[in-house]
Amino acid sequence: MKRLIAVLLAVWLPMSANALNVFSCEPEWAALVQEVAGDNVTITQATTAFQDPHMLQARPSLIAGARSADLLICTGADLEIGWLPLLLRRSGNPGIQPGSPGYFMAADYVRRIEIPASVDRSQGDVHPQGNPHIHLHPRNIERVAEALADRLAQLDSANAEAYRANADDFLRRWNEARDRWEEQAASLAGLRLVSHHRSFSYLADWLDLDIVATLEPKPGIPASGAHLSRLLEQLTPAPPAGIIRAPFENEKPAHWLSDRLSIPVIEMAFTVGGSDEATDLFGLYEQTIATLEEYRE
Ligand SMILES: [Zn+2]
Repeated sequence: MKRLIAVLLAVWLPMSANALNVFSCEPEWAALVQEVAGDNVTITQATTAFQDPHMLQARPSLIAGARSADLLICTGADLEIGWLPLLLRRSGNPGIQPGSPGYFMAADYVRRIEIPASVDRSQGDVHPQGNPHIHLHPRNIERVAEALADRLAQLDSANAEAYRANADDFLRRWNEARDRWEEQAASLAGLRLVSHHRSFSYLADWLDLDIVATLEPKPGIPASGAHLSRLLEQLTPAPPAGIIRAPFENEKPAHWLSDRLSIPVIEMAFTVGGSDEATDLFGLYEQTIATLEEYRE
């Protein structure tokens, strides 16, 4: 029995009390914090999978969540530029302001794609720092998980060993899953799709999907009739397999084009909580691949 207890203690690193308060801008980062910090955190989540993270009201409950946060984790790369600066000011919390250890922007740890050669804000491009929707590439999750473990260890040194152990365990399972997903999704390479916004560019980059057009003429600019008519003309000779959209994206332009090209609108989970199966990051990836496999050409 003594021996058994010793073994159990060796594999189970108990966290000391004093749970950290975490404020997460998007569901994917809340899910990652849960993996790395386990039960040692209380998480305030600013958006659900059904809310557009580009646009949000800094409502009182969120300001209160930010006020008591030890760690703020967001995507960054200007994704939350429309609401986060105001929320941070109103929080009055010095520990989570830019430059503080409690301020963590996931996009700082990955190689961003679609960085515009020149940015004309008058044209409303909402991705001036490159594409911020980084969470559908497993290597990005890996890099953010490593950086997050370091940051949690820095903020809460009493539990540093446990955060690192949790991250190692997560990364071991994640890399195993990634190998499996890559094998499973190999036949998706070249799958031609239209997307509403540039929400799936990293997924396309990973799985070699071919996103032939976006319904928005530029990131953040709503699809106009003229743009949709041009797309219809351009895509009619060889219609793509479908139109992918995130739960919070306007469904009207997708349905307009889908009807005229006789191709399906493919409802993607996009992030954790976006479908019944996407209950954590693993479920999100499983579901994403399973959904696309239904439309394989
Ligand atoms: Zn965007």
